[in-house]
Amino acid sequence: MARRRYSVFALAREALRYHAGWERAWNSPAPKSRYDVIIIGAGGHGLATAYYLGKNFGITNVAVLEKGWLGGGNTGRNTTIIRSNYLQDPSAAIYEKARSLYETMSQDLNMNVMFSPRGVIMLAQTEHEVRGYQRTAHANSLQGVQTEFISPARVKQLVPIMNIDGPRYPVLGGLWQERGGTARHDAVAWGYARACSGMGMDIIQQCEVTGIRREGGKVTGVTTTRGDIGCSKLGIVVAGHSGVMAEKAGFRLPIESLALQALVSEPIKPCMDVVVMANTVHGYMSQSDKGEMVIGGGTDGFNNYTQRGSFHHIEETLRALVETFPVISRLKMLRQWGGIVDMTGDRSPIISKTPLGGCFVNCGWGTGGFKAIPGSGWAMAELIAKGEPGPLAAEFGLNRFAEGRFIDESVAAGVAH
Ligand SMILES: Cc1cc2nc3c(=O)[nH]c(=O)nc-3n(C[C@H](O)[C@H](O)[C@H](O)COP(=O)(O)OP(=O)(O)OC[C@H]3O[C@@H](n4cnc5c(N)ncnc54)[C@H](O)[C@@H]3O)c2cc1C
Repeated sequence: MARRRYSVFALAREALRYHAGWERAWNSPAPKSRYDVIIIGAGGHGLATAYYLGKNFGITNVAVLEKGWLGGGNTGRNTTIIRSNYLQDPSAAIYEKARSLYETMSQDLNMNVMFSPRGVIMLAQTEHEVRGYQRTAHANSLQGVQTEFISPARVKQLVPIMNIDGPRYPVLGGLWQERGGTARHDAVAWGYARACSGMGMDIIQQCEVTGIRREGGKVTGVTTTRGDIGCSKLGIVVAGHSGVMAEKAGFRLPIESLALQALVSEPIKPCMDVVVMANTVHGYMSQSDKGEMVIGGGTDGFNNYTQRGSFHHIEETLRALVETFPVISRLKMLRQWGGIVDMTGDRSPIISKTPLGGCFVNCGWGTGGFKAIPGSGWAMAELIAKGEPGPLAAEFGLNRFAEGRFIDESVAAGVAH
């Protein structure tokens, strides 16, 4: 059922009646016995898939099943960097599609997702990185992605608080994407959920999928903590739990799950209005609207399913960043957390049919899938609706691992972001 539009008039009306008239952003229905499509996982990718199934293909008899609360996985735990400066053509295409959809997302979803195209710099701090990023800038210009390789002086002009003459890793330049930036992660999940609910879809939280029902090589439904639910098509979009879910569907995925951590400092006055990534020392930082410095580090060195922080990560990440940003050396850190990221060998995602008929998988976004949410949802919806991948997803099939057609993004995605 259609939701009432958010607008300045709605805000004024509610202000006059003490904000007592806002309706719930999405419904919380009990599961029906059957849907045309079930999506497992109400993270950004699962919700965007459902949204584009409805918007682009008119498929609205859809349920999104979530074991916890929507957006409570990596979607609500990331550092929200959005960019599309990847090296390989298929990656540039899907990440640029996503970035361009972010530009109009607030209007599309009628929800302010606070997209802030403040610009992203990837610092070059070794000769190897200079050559690598110059190559990426050339590739991007052929792909129609707007990036440029900038000088150390320009980096300093963009980020005055940066020390570009560090003794170990001086700044030798940077890959600059002016229309990259950040968005409010929760709002992205909430906006898609509200729009899906408005199209009549069911978003069912606290509903863990515990089994996948199949017959004659085809999916027939799922077993959940809230009973059995039938479906004709199933999308598995569960990030760090993709391997677990694939096992229940009777196949294996080339995915490793690892904890990735981030932290924020106490809020300070505005001091940095771009996003900076320093891949050599492995840290990245932006300033939130509240003034906190949002800082991301690396993944654990071993596979695990933990969603919390650890002391040595704070120490490692801050030690790495402090040479380039001496200003953070006395900041108190406020919060730290972790998410379970799903890594493939070539650091590119999987959007694919599976050995089980009617079952499709979207995963492998690893440390960098927030930026891809709208593009990924668009491509996954097309795959589910048509049963075959469209141009955005064509290269990201599972068969690439058997055929050796890797989409190597270890440079673009080698640091966690
Ligand atoms: C610390 C950190 C920093 C990051 N920084 C960035 C960044 O700056 N930029 C960027 O682009 N990306 C970043 N990422 C990566 C990004 O967060 C993820 O790639 C993206 O959010 C994945 O979205 P998703 O919808 O696939 O997964 P999720 O948001 O994790 O959603 C999957 C959902 O599936 C649910 N689920 C799992 N199993 C079941 C089950 N059995 N039944 C029902 N539901 C189930 C989970 O509860 C979860 O809510 C970061 C990640 C982390 C952890």
